[in-house]
Amino acid sequence: MDLGLRGKVALVTGAGSGIGRAIALALGAEGARVVPTDLKGDTAEATAQEIVARGGEAWARTLDVTDFAQAQQVVREVVARFGRLDVLVNCAGAWRLNLFVDSTPEDWDFEVKVCFMGVVNCTRAVLDQMIAQQSGKIVNISSDAGRVGEVRQAVYSGAKAAVIGFSKAVAKEVGRYNIHVNCVCPGYTKTPATERYLTPELEARIVKAYPLRKLGLPEDVAKAVVFLASEGASHITGQTLSVSGGYSMV
Ligand code: NAP
Repeated sequence: MDLGLRGKVALVTGAGSGIGRAIALALGAEGARVVPTDLKGDTAEATAQEIVARGGEAWARTLDVTDFAQAQQVVREVVARFGRLDVLVNCAGAWRLNLFVDSTPEDWDFEVKVCFMGVVNCTRAVLDQMIAQQSGKIVNISSDAGRVGEVRQAVYSGAKAAVIGFSKAVAKEVGRYNIHVNCVCPGYTKTPATERYLTPELEARIVKAYPLRKLGLPEDVAKAVVFLASEGASHITGQTLSVSGGYSMV
């Protein structure tokens, strides 16, 4: 099935690692011109090189999603180079595992800034161009934590729930310009971030809560994102799709 992504310009945040990297590679494999971005330019560049090595087109940029001015600047550069911007995937994220009662205002600020304000900043940064084009696809990576809440991730869960509410509101505002805004909610997914603390014992315990009895891979999430970024999702907006082996069914 041709997903209609060939030649589309797709900016992915947090594309230097884990889920964002898999999304960038999957978009590149569909023929999109990918702009992998990350806090660290070298990891974004490594993703870009991998896309090119697989026969795709990519141009890496450094982007700290908490910095609105930098997001605007990167979007200006992308539009100057490619003349358009068709897809934004907001994937950058970070979290600290601790009980809410043990967490600090600095922890709360960090998670809200990266996980929620990062999505707000980058979404606002692309909208003028997408409105001018009268088209665009925005896919926001939330989390099942934002749908059902996770212990030791209280403020992160709140920030991810905020991403869902924000996405629905923006979808209502910009639908008239043929701009689609949807959310994908991964469940526990094996990435460099989670593998830092995932022991075999912890994995066995978590898997019991997943009807499909396995943890997700970054590529599982990427498939759903590619679909929502594609022409296949031409009449879908404001929706939230869990990719979590059935962990949450809401
Ligand atoms: P990851 O491997 O750590 O990848 C996240 C990337 O985002 C990293 O390269 C990270 O850079 C980057 N990043 C952090 N802060 C940033 C900022 N301010 N600006 C730009 N980039 C920034 O994590 P992941 O597991 O793939 O997670 C990707 C997304 O999926 C996140 O939004 C996460 O909340 C969500 N998610 C993940 C899971 C899971 O189980 N893995 C489950 C649900 C949702 P550094 O490494 O330098 O910090």
